[in-house]
Amino acid sequence: MNKFSIGVDLGGTNLRIAAVDEQGGLIEKVTLGTRISLGPEYVIGDMCEAIQRMSEKYRNGASLLGIGIGVPGIIDAQTGLVRESPNLPGFVDYPAGALIEQRLKTVVILENDANVAALGEKWLGAAKDYSDVAILTLGTGVGGGVVLGGSIWRGTNGMAGEFGHTTVEPDGQPCGCGNRGCLEQYASATAVVRMAREAIASNGASALARAAHSDPEFSAKSIYNLAMQGDEDARRIFRYVGRCLGIVLSTLVNSLNLPIYVIGGGVAGAWEAFSPSIFEELRRRSLVYAATAPHDPSATQEGASAHVVAGPGHKTIVTRALLGSDAGLFGAARLPMIAKARR
Ligand SMILES: [Zn+2]
Repeated sequence: MNKFSIGVDLGGTNLRIAAVDEQGGLIEKVTLGTRISLGPEYVIGDMCEAIQRMSEKYRNGASLLGIGIGVPGIIDAQTGLVRESPNLPGFVDYPAGALIEQRLKTVVILENDANVAALGEKWLGAAKDYSDVAILTLGTGVGGGVVLGGSIWRGTNGMAGEFGHTTVEPDGQPCGCGNRGCLEQYASATAVVRMAREAIASNGASALARAAHSDPEFSAKSIYNLAMQGDEDARRIFRYVGRCLGIVLSTLVNSLNLPIYVIGGGVAGAWEAFSPSIFEELRRRSLVYAATAPHDPSATQEGASAHVVAGPGHKTIVTRALLGSDAGLFGAARLPMIAKARR
């Protein structure tokens, strides 16, 4: 190992830090809690100490290229300013990048968390054979990111890729963004649990009701488990998740004509339950997809065997992420490597 960088995933709950070498090898990974109630200065201080401990361990014989940090929210990547972050209260127009750079005396690059997840999947994951990719991350909310020609597409204001706030139901659920019926209200972990509670309230949904009552952590995962056991109410919820994702993906496929679209985040673990509906909607709604879909009759196999079925540049691939929650860590670690190559 000659050179390495440090990737940070600054979430509202967890602060994760990893040292990664230039080939994408994971050297070390730690997870700390984000003590957000103590304020941004405290969180940044905690982060800097952990980064320092980690980088000192490996600095003998290897050089640190810099630090990349994925942050949920609106980031000014040029200045390292966190404009606002719903999951990180207190980080409002907060100059996190400059403060960390001052303290650690190395290159620090901040980036939106879904953008770094896209970069991670492009570097080492599902999209590693492609230079263009769009990702949708299904977690507490729904994030989105686009990588074009190997670089993050930020848009004029660094706000590109907000696919989670695309309308799928014109008069649907109110969303935190001010709109109604956003994808986030139908395809996030929060939405899956809400839809399960709605099913219980409207038709009793007995297996879901039992799980909601007995499982203190009644979550999207519990509902997925019921769907896999064949519970029709749970299966209906994930079919609807897939339908909404398919509607948004149809628009993306028609407008962007990228070779690959990746679904990541915690809810992507329920791929088997929702992906058949994605492919159904894509075939029905997107002329570009219909003309470029891989020739695999089995809908759930479509993504899984995508790399075998179609070479890069010929088919439209829609598939699940491969790196799980590490996509953001690897993508963040990649940021200083790309920046160095450009200097
Ligand atoms: Zn919204």
